[in-house]
Formats: sequence, structure tokens, C-alpha cells
Amino acid sequence: MDRFAHLEWPFFEGRHRKLAREAETWARDNLAYAHGEDADAICKRLVQDLGCAGYLDHVANENVDVRSASVLREIFAYHAGLADFAFVMQGLGSGAIALAGTEAQKRKYLKKAATGDAIAAFALSEPDAGSDVQAIKTLAKRKGDGWALDGTKTWISNGGIADFYVVFAKAEEGISAFIVEAGELDASERIDIVAPHPMAVLKLKDSKATLLGEAGQGFKLAMRNLDIFRTTVAGAALGFARRAFHEALTRSRDRSMFGKTLADFQLTQAKLADMATAIDASALLTYRAGWERDVQKKRITREAAMAKMHATEAAQQVIDDAVQICGGLGVMRGHPVEKLYREVRALRIYEGATEVQKLIIARDLLKS
Ligand SMILES: Cc1cc2nc3c(=O)[nH]c(=O)nc-3n(C[C@H](O)[C@H](O)[C@H](O)COP(=O)(O)OP(=O)(O)OC[C@H]3O[C@@H](n4cnc5c(N)ncnc54)[C@H](O)[C@@H]3O)c2cc1C
Repeated sequence: MDRFAHLEWPFFEGRHRKLAREAETWARDNLAYAHGEDADAICKRLVQDLGCAGYLDHVANENVDVRSASVLREIFAYHAGLADFAFVMQGLGSGAIALAGTEAQKRKYLKKAATGDAIAAFALSEPDAGSDVQAIKTLAKRKGDGWALDGTKTWISNGGIADFYVVFAKAEEGISAFIVEAGELDASERIDIVAPHPMAVLKLKDSKATLLGEAGQGFKLAMRNLDIFRTTVAGAALGFARRAFHEALTRSRDRSMFGKTLADFQLTQAKLADMATAIDASALLTYRAGWERDVQKKRITREAAMAKMHATEAAQQVIDDAVQICGGLGVMRGHPVEKLYREVRALRIYEGATEVQKLIIARDLLKS
């Protein structure tokens, strides 16, 4: 299966095909170190390398082209999960600044996120507010000319290595967005997850913060930011699924069994057919959402939710099938499909769990 055949679909332009070709070569030549053990050190280096190579500009930007960002996530996820993570976090972490920042804030934070000179993070979730975003308790109070924040954030990607955090907190006017520099909060409590990424709990205590956009508009801002990046989660899921499919196809052809190969058995062929179909369906939904936003300039809340939900659930199934096809090798620590099995799981939870995506889709259908 040609991994880039979909780039001939009418959703794409020549510049996407050129970007994909260049990124594929770059990823193949430059990401070997991204499979090491020290996730913090790897991510810091990845941000610099991705910045130098010019890729971060595709996500840390006022005009994110969703198709380009998704194609890049596909490619980075295919080669190394941490490369995809480091890439997208620069965009998610600076996205609210791109959407609502002042020119000075954009110069100070967004530009540095795009060159890899500063690491960005997005801090919305709290111990008692995950899917129920409106339940956040972190408080924002005016202090002198500025603001001070008190509260706890959790599950914060890049927590502990970020230079700045976009933090959502409750002010008198309602949920508002703020920029908090790393020195203003405590990120020493780290969180270890199945596929290690830099992640921490953030403790804010009278932390100095700068308002981002208008007070009371933070919830809308967070949702607008997620509208853009949710489609790209589907892109990452596609990259993981394509890699698992490649490993399964190769193994099934190479594995001798009962005087034939594993691929000669119809039970295997049925699995491969299901996997390839699920991957194509994910790609169609992902790039339909990207094309509607980039070209038709539409709000894509429903389309992005469909893409995220389908592509992450399908990737989980494709990767599970790949583990099954690889047999014992599939669960051997360090084997590509074993890593994918751990890597893909969180995608069905973050940026809105599958159940939340279903509610978003149904709400939109019932409204229309
Ligand atoms: C790897 C990873 C990275 C993350 N990075 C960040 C980050 O950078 N910044 C940030 O702010 N947050 C981040 N998060 C947090 C993430 O957004 C939350 O985990 C997510 O919103 C779910 O919240 P929760 O974990 O509190 O689960 P809960 O809200 O407790 O939900 C638990 C489960 O309930 C189910 N559920 C939810 N709503 C409904 C419903 N209405 N009906 C029925 N079932 C429902 C879902 O299956 C869900 O998984 C990250 C999480 C992970 C795992």
C-alpha cells in the first residue's frame, strides 16, 4: 500500500505533496535518536531540530493549514511518536496566542515557539475537570497592573520542560486564558505514562500571569484552538496505524507457517483488508475536515470530532491486529508494534475522549 497515494486525492495541492516528500526524507534521516529513553532530553532536542528544519512554522502560526499540519503529524508519528508529540505541542501550546495574542505577545512567544527557541504548553485540565472543562477551579485575580493565578493543573504535556504555559483560569468575567512563564509555577511533580512523554502537574500559587485575549473569552478560545488541533490528532493516529499496517504486512509475508506464509491464509487476508479499509476511511475523514477548514473556511467542529473519533478508534484496532499478526514479537518490549500499542492509547482520551466527540457530533446534528 503506497503510504502517500492519498496525497493525489482532490483534498490536496502540489505544495502538500512537496512538503510530504521533504518531511519523509527528513524524518527518515534525522529521527533515530527519538527512540531513546530520556523523553525530556529527546523532546528538547526535537523542538530545536524541528524548528531549525522549518517544520514548527506549520503549527505555531496564525494561519495553520490543517492539511499540512496533519500530513506532517502522519509522517512524524509513522517514524517516532515523540517527534509527533514535540511537533504538535508547539502548536497546541501557542495556538491561543496565535488566535488572540497581542502583537507583542506573538513576537515574544509565538515566534519563539515557531523557531524552537521556546517550548510551549497548554494547561486546561485539572484533577476535578477533565472532560468537564467548565468545572475548572483555578482562580485568576487582578493584582496591580496584571493578574495572579492560584490552582492546580494536571496531565500537562511538556510540563517541566516548557518555557511558557497557556493556562485557563476562572476570573470574575468567566474562564479566561493567560500566559504564565515557567519560573512562576511549580512543575516538579512529574507524571509517568505508558508511552513516556514530558508531563507534569502544575501548581500555581499567586503566579504572575498575563491576560490573553479578553477576560471571560477563554473557553471559546480553548475550543477554537482544539477545533484546529483535533483534526491533526486524527493525522497522528493515521501515522501510527500506517506504521502498524506496514509492520503487519511485512511480517505476514515473511513468516513461514504450515508450509506456506502467514499471508497465504484467508484469515490473515481478512485482517489486512479490514486494516487497510479502516486506514483509508480515517484518511478520508481527516482530510475532508482539513479541506473544509482550509479551503471552504468552514467551522469544522463536527467534522473534526468525526475524524478524531474514527481515526483514533480505528488506529487502536489496526495496531491491535498488527500485534496479533506479529505474535510473540508483537508484545516484545521495543518492537515497533509494541511501542505503537502503548503510544496510541492516549489518543482516544486527550483533546476530548471518544465519548465527548460523540456528544459533540450528536449536538451538532440535533441543532441543525
Ligand atoms: C497523554 C495525555 C496528554 C494530555 N495532555 C494534556 C495537555 O497538554 N493539557 C491539558 O490541559 N490536558 C491534557 N491531557 C488531559 C486530557 O485532556 C484529559 O485526560 C481528558 O480531557 C479526559 O479527562 P480526565 O482524564 O479527567 O477523564 P474524565 O473526565 O474523568 O473522563 C473519564 C472517561 O469518562 C468518559 N466520559 C467522558 N465524558 C462522558 C460522558 N459525557 N458520558 C459518558 N462517558 C463520558 C470517557 O471515556 C473518559 O475517558 C492529557 C491527557 C493525556 C492522557
